Amino acid sequence: MVATSRTALAELDHADPLASCRDRFSLPEGVIYLDGNSLGALPRAAAARAGRVVGQEWGEGLIRSWNQADWINLPRRVGAKIAPLIGAGPDEVIIGDSTSINLYKLLASALRLKPDRPVILSEVDNFPTDLYVAEGLVRWLGPPFELRMVERGMLSGALDHRVALLMLTEIDYRTGERHDMKVLTSLAHERGTLVLWDLSHSAGVLPIDLGAAEADFAVGCGYKYLNGGPGAPAFLYVARRWQETIEPVIADWMGHARPFAFNAEYVPADGIARFLTGTPSVLALSVLDAALDVFDGVDMKQLCAKSMALTDIFIALCEQRCAGNDLVVASPREVAQRGSQVSFRHAQGYPIMQALIARGVIGDFRAPDLMRFGFSPLYVRYVDVFDAVEALVAILKSGEWREPRFAQIAAVT
Ligand SMILES: *Cc1c(COP(=O)(O)O)cnc(C)c1O
Repeated sequence: MVATSRTALAELDHADPLASCRDRFSLPEGVIYLDGNSLGALPRAAAARAGRVVGQEWGEGLIRSWNQADWINLPRRVGAKIAPLIGAGPDEVIIGDSTSINLYKLLASALRLKPDRPVILSEVDNFPTDLYVAEGLVRWLGPPFELRMVERGMLSGALDHRVALLMLTEIDYRTGERHDMKVLTSLAHERGTLVLWDLSHSAGVLPIDLGAAEADFAVGCGYKYLNGGPGAPAFLYVARRWQETIEPVIADWMGHARPFAFNAEYVPADGIARFLTGTPSVLALSVLDAALDVFDGVDMKQLCAKSMALTDIFIALCEQRCAGNDLVVASPREVAQRGSQVSFRHAQGYPIMQALIARGVIGDFRAPDLMRFGFSPLYVRYVDVFDAVEALVAILKSGEWREPRFAQIAAVT
C-alpha cells in the first residue's frame, strides 16, 4: 500500500535524501512542474554560467577563450560528464547537434559496418522523428536498404540475417513503457545485429548501463531530464570497440585528426572525436555543462527509487480520487516496466491538461488522448504529487475544462 495522505507525503519529503537537490533549481512560484521529461527545469548554476560565458568568456576573452576557457574541448568534457549517467566510459560520449542529427550520423555509419545487411529494424511506436530519420536515410540510399517496423512483441521474430541494426528508444514517450535493454541487445547480437538505443527519455532519471548491456551505439537528448535548456545539444555514444573502424558520414574539420593543420586531405580523429560536426555551440554546451552539476553526489539508484515512488503514488492517488471520471492509466503498473512518467488516457485530455496548466500544474498532452506527467525526482516533491492530483480532481468536478479557451490547440502541445 502506498502512502497517500498529504501528511504522510510531507513526511516522505522530510526523510528524502534528495530533498536538498530542489534548491539547485530556479523554479517559478506556484508551479508544480511535471514536464521535465519534455523540457527540464532551469538549474541555478546554468543561469549563472550563461551570464559568465556571454559576458566574460565571449565579451572579454574574445577569441582567446577557445584556449583559455577551453571552449574547444567542451564537446568531449561534457560528454565525459554525461558518461557516468549512462554507463559509458568518458571517451565513449560526445556532445553536439540534435538527437535527430546524431541518429542520422550513427545510422548511416553503422550500416557500413554490416555491408551485407540492408535493413534497419525498429518498432512502429518508436518516437516519430527516429522513424522519419531512418526512413529518410534508407530512401536516400535506395534499394535494397529498408526500414522494417514491427509491433513491440514482434521484434524478436523480425531479427533475421538481413537486419544490420536494431534501433529502439528505451522509454516509450507516450506511455513510459520500458524496454529491457540488456535482453534485447544480447538477443540482437546473437543474430549478428548491431544495436542503437535512444535514451532521450531515460538519461538523467534511470540508472542506465550501456557498458553492461554491451550496446553498440546510443543517442539522447540534452534538454529533458538532463536539464540543458531548450534545444540543448544532444549526446552520441559509440562503444570503444567500434571507434577505430567506424567512418563518420559527415567528414569535417572538427572531426579531423589535426583540424588546425588545414590539410586538404581528410584524416579522421582517433576515437569518438571523429563524430564532431562543425564548430561546437559554445553557449549551449556551457549551459549544459553547468546544468549537469545538479547530479553531483546524486546516487542514481536513489534517484530512480524516488521516481518509482512518485509515479506509484501518482497512479494510486489518481485512481482513488478521480474514480468514475473516465481516466484510464496508459502506463505499465509494474514500476520496473516504466520510466519516470505516467500517462492517462481521457477523451478530453487536451482541454483538461490546459485547465491544469492554467492552475499551475504543468504536464503535457500527446495525441490522440494522452495526458502525460513526468516526474523529475531532483525537484518534484511528494507533496507536489498530492497537490497536482487535487487540482485534477477540482477540474474534473467543476468541469472548468469545458471553457472554450482550453480547447484552442497551440502549435506545441
Ligand atoms: C525528445 C526526443 C527526440 C528529440 O529529437 P530532437 O532532434 O532534439 O528534436 C528524439 N527522439 C526521442 C526518442 C525523443 O524522446
